Amino acid sequence: MKLLLLLLLLPAAVQAGNREVSVRVYSLHKLTAITLEPANGGAAAGGRPLTRQARLSAKGSSLSLEGQHAGPVKALRASGGIWLSGKGLPRRLYGGELLFSAEKGRLRIINHVALEPYIANVVSGEAADFSHPEAYKAQAVAARTYALKHYQAHSGEGYNLCDSTHCQLYTGAAGVSARARAAAEATRGEILTYKGAPAETYYHSACGGRTEDMTHVWPFPGKPYLVSVKDGPPGRPYCSIAPGFKWKTKIYYTGLTRLARRAGWLVADETAKGFRITAWGTSGRAAEVEITTQRRKVKVPATEFYHGIGRRAGWNAVRSSFFKVLQGRDYVLLDGVGSGHGVGLCQWGAEGMARKGFKYRDILKHYYPGTEIKHD
Ligand SMILES: [Zn+2]
Ligand SMILES: [Zn+2]
Repeated sequence: MKLLLLLLLLPAAVQAGNREVSVRVYSLHKLTAITLEPANGGAAAGGRPLTRQARLSAKGSSLSLEGQHAGPVKALRASGGIWLSGKGLPRRLYGGELLFSAEKGRLRIINHVALEPYIANVVSGEAADFSHPEAYKAQAVAARTYALKHYQAHSGEGYNLCDSTHCQLYTGAAGVSARARAAAEATRGEILTYKGAPAETYYHSACGGRTEDMTHVWPFPGKPYLVSVKDGPPGRPYCSIAPGFKWKTKIYYTGLTRLARRAGWLVADETAKGFRITAWGTSGRAAEVEITTQRRKVKVPATEFYHGIGRRAGWNAVRSSFFKVLQGRDYVLLDGVGSGHGVGLCQWGAEGMARKGFKYRDILKHYYPGTEIKHD
């Protein structure tokens, strides 16, 4: 009895050999029905063979398959995977096992999939614009480590990870590039560790010339390997090959006022009349910005500003918090570099380093100083 309890209490992430992840798919969609279609033979739904399209829908806390009551949970195993589709949904192929359940009239879909195909999909999406195998490998190790480190992210909800950027973007088994598959295979089981434990491998698109110390970006305790590192020679950072590396965005005070009210930084009758940076991180990124109104100065953490603008005006408006503020008469011009939060691996920097002949191990050591690659 005691042994059994111990086994149950052992975190899933450290069980050697058991490398499967359960991922909630379509996690950002409110689903009531979905269409299943086996890719090629061998699928079963609830013990019955599934040979052609079938529609699964949620009613209260039960499911119906092709109009027939189908109990609370459905399990499917398909040799070639199962396509899922539905109105307003991207059509996606999933390998492994799919578990369906209904909760308050909504469908919940969990994909149990082996770790490496999951990693290949994440890498395929994250590294799609890269050309160098070593950049793919660096991304594969970072993504695998991230998955294992966050293995319990949704354990309270009955699965490991969600398929959105909250965890890592995962879009199933279709369209995975050969390069991504090869990178997952070449680094199979490798994770990045710090003092023997899996590292926190945050990554972002392009740092802009210098990555940022985590403590200037998020209000959490820092990590010795998530510190600011110089991304290559001055004036020509590794990530300067990123499309849109340099960007400029004009923000009129009228627009800033609207956004700031919606974000809750200003109240309804306040008008933005000034904008400046009031604190900087180690890299030179803004750490805090200040909006001046007719009666006060409102300080906003730069990360909150970046997210607030991104969510409301699109992520291309202010691509990072690495910018200078140039003052206009009724606007400010943000003159920036890079894109993303700037912590950990710079993805375009990895591609830049790879093109210069660095191997993925050098790349990972550069962006996560003091870490080591170990076999999981
Ligand atoms: Zn998540
Ligand atoms: Zn960079």
